[in-house]
Amino acid sequence: MRAVTRLVVLAATAVTGCSTVQPLVEVPASLTTLPLPSGAAVASRVPGVPVESCDATASLRPSTEGGPTVEAIRQRGRLIVGIDQSTNLLSFRDPASGHLQGFDVDIAREVARDLTGDSAKVEFRLLTSIERISNLQNGTVDIVVKAMTITCARAEQIAFSTEYFDAHQRLLVPKDSPIQGPGDLAGKRVCSQVDTTSLATAARVAPAATLLGVQNWDDCLVAIQQGQTDAVTTDDSILAGMAVQDPNLHLVGPSLENEPYGIGVNKSREDLVRAVNASLDRIRRDGTWEALYRKWFNVLGVAPSPPEPRYRD
Ligand code: GLU
Repeated sequence: MRAVTRLVVLAATAVTGCSTVQPLVEVPASLTTLPLPSGAAVASRVPGVPVESCDATASLRPSTEGGPTVEAIRQRGRLIVGIDQSTNLLSFRDPASGHLQGFDVDIAREVARDLTGDSAKVEFRLLTSIERISNLQNGTVDIVVKAMTITCARAEQIAFSTEYFDAHQRLLVPKDSPIQGPGDLAGKRVCSQVDTTSLATAARVAPAATLLGVQNWDDCLVAIQQGQTDAVTTDDSILAGMAVQDPNLHLVGPSLENEPYGIGVNKSREDLVRAVNASLDRIRRDGTWEALYRKWFNVLGVAPSPPEPRYRD
């Protein structure tokens, strides 16, 4: 049984425009009657600056010319990719083989194919959401492919590729729940992962809800199945991965926020940003993107066109 002592529940308040750590409040007794998943985090509020305000989705033009970073990856013979292992459909373990698989895994392999000539030449390093930026900054990983929303705050710290997936934050609830949208969340519990855009948006759209902050998306799935949260909120791509695991759950309500995914790269490694963008360009043009969407996200409906790349140079 996992310890419950590290679980933190935060009463949501309106976002005021500056980052504040909310005071801890006592975990209600009703939440501790069942063993809780490894929910264990203090969620701080990140100001929800719209990505449009800084044009962060505009990246560097693609180039296959290479440079020092691309050369070092080729010399090493493999691409080191920061990724998740518990986000069904995006990056998760095949229960039979134990291998990582999913849309993000396949995208990373396509980039490796273009950089090293072999899609198998990838070394995956497992990261939580908060570790994405630090591992890029200290050079532990070459790229991060982990459902990472391009935001203004993040774009100050790392470089992003062009957008490779157009996600939207929504709600996941039991099919017999009266919750139909954010207006029904007052007094309810809402689960999300700490250090994500999802939690910040939850605080904004559900100011009278209680937020349950956990470490992994799987923990929100367990929490809703155990009746410890009334709803889960994050990207539709991630919620779809929970819904296919539990037919009693479904997505409801409108898009709460745009979540454009980008591949993260160290800010000083411009040659790698351009090489990744060349790879994404190839994936968009040769039908690979649609094939991968259909492979993993047919549950979301007909494959849309891949997001149009935008450039700033
Ligand atoms: N797209 C959201 C984010 O980048 C949630 C995805 C995640 O962190 O796993 O914060």
